[in-house]
Amino acid sequence: MPHTETTTVRSLPTAGTAARPAAPARPGVRTLPEHSVGDGGAGAHPADGGDWLRFAPVQPLFRAMAAQRLAVLAYHGVTDPRSFGAQLDRLRRLAVPVSLEAVQRAVAERRPLPPRSVLITFDDADRSVLTHALPELTRRGIPAAAFVISELIGTDRPFWWHEAAFLARHGGRARSLCTDQPSQLLPRLKSLPDPDRRRSLQELRVSADRRPPRQEQLAPADLLALRDGRVSIGNHTQGHPCLGRCDTATVRAEITGAHHALTRWLGEPPTAFAYPDGGHDPRAEAVLDELGYRLGFLSDHRLGPRLPGHPLQISRLQVDSATSARRFDTILSGLEPAYRRWRGQSVA
Ligand SMILES: [Zn+2]
Repeated sequence: MPHTETTTVRSLPTAGTAARPAAPARPGVRTLPEHSVGDGGAGAHPADGGDWLRFAPVQPLFRAMAAQRLAVLAYHGVTDPRSFGAQLDRLRRLAVPVSLEAVQRAVAERRPLPPRSVLITFDDADRSVLTHALPELTRRGIPAAAFVISELIGTDRPFWWHEAAFLARHGGRARSLCTDQPSQLLPRLKSLPDPDRRRSLQELRVSADRRPPRQEQLAPADLLALRDGRVSIGNHTQGHPCLGRCDTATVRAEITGAHHALTRWLGEPPTAFAYPDGGHDPRAEAVLDELGYRLGFLSDHRLGPRLPGHPLQISRLQVDSATSARRFDTILSGLEPAYRRWRGQSVA
């Protein structure tokens, strides 16, 4: 699905966001919300473009330091296969693409990944991962991982954040929401305790004058096709709530429900998880640990160590297929994320 990120650098909520995890277990773990405006990943297009950073004198230094770090790229859908293909070509020149299994092996054997290692991941796994991303990855022999929302698999239901935005645009109302300010709708929904978010969605559904368009999702057979194409399948919960806004029983049910469904479809249990909205939750981590998960991914827009110290809290960089080549380089080097953190801190 198209990513329509329009958030400015100044408004990017690197801390104190509505979707912030309730109790980060590790100091400095901050989250960029997944769908901050429309459906876009938050890392893609701050308003100042940022291409100039590519020419900053510190970029070579950042690039040299980044060679000793692990870059896990977090995409959502792929809207532009050609641009995505160019990014993959760039990665083959600048980096060493690795598989999810290679990261798991490194953790298990306590052996750091090679310098310049990059893992490609996709959150939410809309159909474009199969139709647009997989052919480009396969053509170049690059592995990846996709994190799916289990209750959508095999359905034509839209993502809830798309549905809410559509319903609000078409007369939907809810007691807890101010639908006159579209930019505030999603942050507000994500800030609500999860039962209130669900109730608000239901109120939007019954009050809107149109039904949202259907969205064909991946089917169970598509998950197998992806896996056969070296795209590992991971857990992204059952319904993609903000775990920090859920009670403990719901956190458990969201993870185990998706775990059992994926195990049924794949014939083996998934071993990797991406926190919905990128927010780490210690209760979720405890459930993952119990279920034998080996890797958990954040959306904190950071590089991580080549031997992850916290395998269930692995940092990721947010990109999308429309990210320009110059910007892509500065994200990969860690300069753009550092610049954004600095800007965020300077206006906090
Ligand atoms: Zn997601």
